[in-house]
Amino acid sequence: MALTIFNTLGRRPEPFEPITPGKAGFYGCGPTVYNYAHIGNLRAYVFHDLLTRTLRRQGFEVTHVMNITDVGHLSGDNDEGDDKMVKSAAERGKSVLEVAEFYTRAFFKDTERLNINRPSVVCKATEHIGEMIDLIRRIEAAGFTYSAGGNLYFDIGKFPHYGDLALLRPDGLKAGARIGADENKRNPQDFALWFTRSKFEHQALVWDSPWGRGYPGWHIECSAMSIKYLGEQFDIHAGGIDHIPIHHTNEIAQSESATGKRPWVRYWVHNEFLVLDKGKMSKSSGGFLTLQSLVDSGYDPLDYRYFLLGGHYRSQLQFSYKALDGARNGRKSLGDRIRFLSEKAGGGVTPGTALPSSVTNGKARGYIDAFDKALGDDFSSPRALAELWGLLRDTEIAPADALAAAFDMDRALGLSLAEAAVRDADGADQGLAKEIEALIAERTSAKKAKDFAKADGIRNSLKDKGILLEDGPGGTIWRRL
Ligand code: AMP
Ligand code: ZN
Repeated sequence: MALTIFNTLGRRPEPFEPITPGKAGFYGCGPTVYNYAHIGNLRAYVFHDLLTRTLRRQGFEVTHVMNITDVGHLSGDNDEGDDKMVKSAAERGKSVLEVAEFYTRAFFKDTERLNINRPSVVCKATEHIGEMIDLIRRIEAAGFTYSAGGNLYFDIGKFPHYGDLALLRPDGLKAGARIGADENKRNPQDFALWFTRSKFEHQALVWDSPWGRGYPGWHIECSAMSIKYLGEQFDIHAGGIDHIPIHHTNEIAQSESATGKRPWVRYWVHNEFLVLDKGKMSKSSGGFLTLQSLVDSGYDPLDYRYFLLGGHYRSQLQFSYKALDGARNGRKSLGDRIRFLSEKAGGGVTPGTALPSSVTNGKARGYIDAFDKALGDDFSSPRALAELWGLLRDTEIAPADALAAAFDMDRALGLSLAEAAVRDADGADQGLAKEIEALIAERTSAKKAKDFAKADGIRNSLKDKGILLEDGPGGTIWRRL
């Protein structure tokens, strides 16, 4: 198997070659826990999950690290605005740590419902202040900092590679200056490593440091924690595209100036945004959809996962309930098909069992190979899903083999296919499936008897009910429209 990753650093696809053969170190920026995650944020985490599952499927031993931001993230990524955590705590009449605890739990409840595997390491910013201070000390010792107005800043003018990731041009940097920007800064893009003189009088969490009592800038946590758990150079770093120009650009500047090693990270991967009909979804604006709101509207969290996998992570995805309805129907059809195949196979095929030789040497193998090729081609989940569907529709493949191959694919997709077959088979659905199977049998007999009018009548009446029949060499299968 091969893996090609589109590297934001350089903007080109590159074969994945890890620093240590057989292992992959992966850091994905985690949530700022001042509110529920919105479904756009969850797109990022479903993608991180797809990425780790793909790497593991390809045989890599993956260390996946995710941070929890519970301090220091201002509402503007570039040191402007309020501290998101402090503001949220004040609004809710709670302490910052209570708010962080509450929304961290809510976050993991969401990720569990979406079948997102827990990262190998989950690390909280507030528990790594010592590591951040140590890293800032190294940056300072290397000569990349200055103090002004009581804060310690990173001087981007001293770091020649500043902006490489975001393709920022040195002459364009100054032009980005904003009115009202921090007057202490030498360059508008300089950023705080440590704040002591806070503009917020009631900054709840402060720590002692060589630069005075205060708190860290937002970007330093990701540099400090990823280096702690993955080393001074590691393989993959991910986040949403919004992180390219500031957060990740600043992470690189900090890490490489502290260690003197380049590149800090080999592969940078960024997911595009989920957008609403009305435009951007944002946690701070308040108008956003949560996973729970989808559940309250009657959707299964895995309908949303299926919807997300239907889009490539580097394409913008437009959310609408109509599109989600389509995903729900698609997933139901998957469940119908898996259930049908299990009945035909007479049970006995369960996920996790080794693939029988009839699969590895048979026709199903072609679909599995194409599936892996799709995922290995920059994590193309839409193409991978198409291969799953191709497999399930191929009536030339024995039901037991098709099932075994589908369960194998599901290790990467995380759609709980085996359970979906059982769970979605509520009384009504099972009755419907039996009715359709009976009508298919009746139609097959009618066709044999050359009563094509009757056969077409059955097909059309099913179509009116939203059921599509597809004839193949091995028989007829059905799916929901
Ligand atoms: P935050 O909790 O705001 O730090 O964001 C968590 C993750 O969600 C980051 O990787 C963001 O880049 C990503 N993100 C934010 N909004 C969206 C969106 N609408 N679609 C996809 N990813 C997003
Ligand atoms: Zn980060």
